[in-house]
Amino acid sequence: MANNISNSLDVAVVGGGQAGLAIGYFLAQQGTNFAILEAADEPAAAWRSRWDSLKLFTPARYDGLPGLAFPGDPDRYPSQGEVADYLTDYARRFELPVVLNSRVRSIRKAGQEYAVELDDRTYEAAQVVIATGPFQVPFVPAIAEGLDEEVVQLHSTAYRSPEPLPDGRILIVGGGNTGFQIAEELSASREVHLSIGSRQMPLPQKLLGRDLFWYLDKTGLIRKTAASRIGRRMRQREDTLIGSNPRGARRRGIQLHGRAVDAAGSTVSFSDGAGLDIRGVVWATGFRADHSWIDVPVFDEAGGVVHERGVTTSPGLYFLGLPWQHTRGSALLGWVKDDAEFLAQKIQALRADAPTPETEIAGAK
Ligand SMILES: Cc1cc2nc3c(=O)[nH]c(=O)nc-3n(C[C@H](O)[C@H](O)[C@H](O)COP(=O)(O)OP(=O)(O)OC[C@H]3O[C@@H](n4cnc5c(N)ncnc54)[C@H](O)[C@@H]3O)c2cc1C
Repeated sequence: MANNISNSLDVAVVGGGQAGLAIGYFLAQQGTNFAILEAADEPAAAWRSRWDSLKLFTPARYDGLPGLAFPGDPDRYPSQGEVADYLTDYARRFELPVVLNSRVRSIRKAGQEYAVELDDRTYEAAQVVIATGPFQVPFVPAIAEGLDEEVVQLHSTAYRSPEPLPDGRILIVGGGNTGFQIAEELSASREVHLSIGSRQMPLPQKLLGRDLFWYLDKTGLIRKTAASRIGRRMRQREDTLIGSNPRGARRRGIQLHGRAVDAAGSTVSFSDGAGLDIRGVVWATGFRADHSWIDVPVFDEAGGVVHERGVTTSPGLYFLGLPWQHTRGSALLGWVKDDAEFLAQKIQALRADAPTPETEIAGAK
């Protein structure tokens, strides 16, 4: 990982996950003076912190970043640990300037440049790419506060394996891929209940022997833009369950409930009025974005990023890896390269337009 990084950069990339590394690959090819600032003390931190038994829903052939195929059988589904190792190797192999232990606390405009402030240093960067991931602050619904202390509560980000959870009845709240997968794992050793607030469309992992993503790739659906008619329809149904479904969950003995609407003592109640006494709960209730540390006016009233394919209205400030930034693939391992390459081209074009010291002096004459 990089040590000797100048405090004056052409480009500061904030976040060293797959999005930060993918754009790093293209910036390195351009010979740009850049650094990838990563808050964690190890590479691929997001993947390392996910639960131990997690298998990707995308096969290895669709898990590679630009310039390096994911190793091994292309039809297998890698584990989270393999993704973390792959990303670590990727940064090393392309000698990407990742600076660990570097949480960016604020970004603000300073003249023509951006001041990128950390606890112990400030970088001046002509351009900045925010690649801090789509999953920032774990969200737990307010009803959680009604539960007694004896009820063990975890957000899915803190779930690694079944052992730390108490024996007895466990409730998983959240009917997305994460909720289903954790419920399935726990059902081998516990009485498991799953609360599904809004139903997601279940899609099979494989159809006629081919992986779902093979069809999405071959039909071009994975690259349909957010603005296209079909993209808009897909986006409305964005949340899809891949490889899990309610019927399969019931077969494993998982008991399904509607939305969890209240909690008191050790009882959670559901939208149909039923109550359930539990020993533990895993909140698979998602995340909220937190861009409050970015002090540049590129957000709408609801806090959403205003951008066109990651390009904001503040010249030289970009986002990468947002869900549906451009297509369904934008926040996935195998397709983030499309947006990364697009932004790298924008960055290069702006650098070419930027006045050099010579042109500034000539202009002043
Ligand atoms: C449970 C789960 C399963 C998934 N399965 C798949 C799958 O099968 N296939 C697939 O293609 N995708 C999958 N994804 C989606 C996606 O690939 C991942 O979420 C991926 O981690 C997103 O990469 P990223 O680089 O955008 O963000 P992240 O991996 O979250 O990386 C962002 C990085 O930014 C750092 N950071 C954050 N804030 C700051 C700051 N202020 N300063 C400096 N650094 C900062 C973080 O430490 C982190 O390392 C899955 C996601 C989840 C949650």
